[in-house]
Amino acid sequence: MTEANNNTSSPFQSFLQQLYSKYKSLPDGKVASYIPELAKVDPDLFSICAMTTDGRGFEVGDFNQLFTIQSISKVFVYGLALEDRGRDYVLTRVGVEPTGDAFNSIILDERSQRPYNPMVNAGAIATTSLIKGAGPTERLNRLLEMFRRYIGRHDIFIDISVFMSERTTGHRNRAMAHLMHHFGMIDEKFDEALDLYFQQCSLMVTCRDLAVMAATLANNGVNPITKEQAVDCVYVKDILSVMYTCGMYNFAGEWAYKIGLPAKSGVSGGIIVVVPNQIGIGVFSPLLDERGNSVRGVKVCEELSRQFGLHMFDAAMGSCKFLEMLNCGNG
Ligand code: GLN
Repeated sequence: MTEANNNTSSPFQSFLQQLYSKYKSLPDGKVASYIPELAKVDPDLFSICAMTTDGRGFEVGDFNQLFTIQSISKVFVYGLALEDRGRDYVLTRVGVEPTGDAFNSIILDERSQRPYNPMVNAGAIATTSLIKGAGPTERLNRLLEMFRRYIGRHDIFIDISVFMSERTTGHRNRAMAHLMHHFGMIDEKFDEALDLYFQQCSLMVTCRDLAVMAATLANNGVNPITKEQAVDCVYVKDILSVMYTCGMYNFAGEWAYKIGLPAKSGVSGGIIVVVPNQIGIGVFSPLLDERGNSVRGVKVCEELSRQFGLHMFDAAMGSCKFLEMLNCGNG
């Protein structure tokens, strides 16, 4: 484990350290194994990171450990699709209704034939198929460029082993792409869209990166470190809305009820949480519950939300802003 390296004296940092110690030995959950390469991960890895919209970082645990971003990528690719095609067009191809079903549900909306939302696999594949570019290389480069703006690092890369592992075993995703092509929701280049989807899922990030990416969304699309606009601010509310209603799959309703913040999980064990205009949070622990969400990640987020009154509809939010608490040293 690496120790936290900044803001070490802050009470908020101490709270993160306490959460880390409390859940570090929690053995519940299983690592994802349906993608064979993911099963090789060390199940004990654990980190919690946060970044404020004014660029202060807090981190504990294995925050520099690289892992594949998996479904968390869906959030950011949705933003790029909105920029490329506009809201109205994207809505003709992907809905915004929660499914109440698993992330890999094959069910499409019977009336419109659209996938239900961009956070489940079917909707994410349809979203990825909307990314503009002259060919597969240009589309991949545009995607990487977009991720670079959020992460604020230039040395990002895709894990080829995980990509190949998903590409050769992802029959269910492939079947969904065929079905969506049948219904006219994605065009005939669906093999290219699938490859791009598997590539976006195989992007390597750290938990610290997740916090910066979440903080960028919290900061109306501007990376708090580089000050670069990662996504047009007019689409941030669309992104946060689908995260809020659909980001945690068939746990999304309970999450909204208990934690009350836009979030997104992935099967490698990451979760991002956005507290609009205040802070972005990233948690990483590969042990998953039966819905595919990180067990320790959910616990940590529950405690953070409760402790700091972060629930969007918590009456206290109006008078007791989290950033103000941090500034007063009461965090
Ligand atoms: N790449 C994974 C898949 O398509 C992403 C799923 C996830 O992270 N929930 O199954």
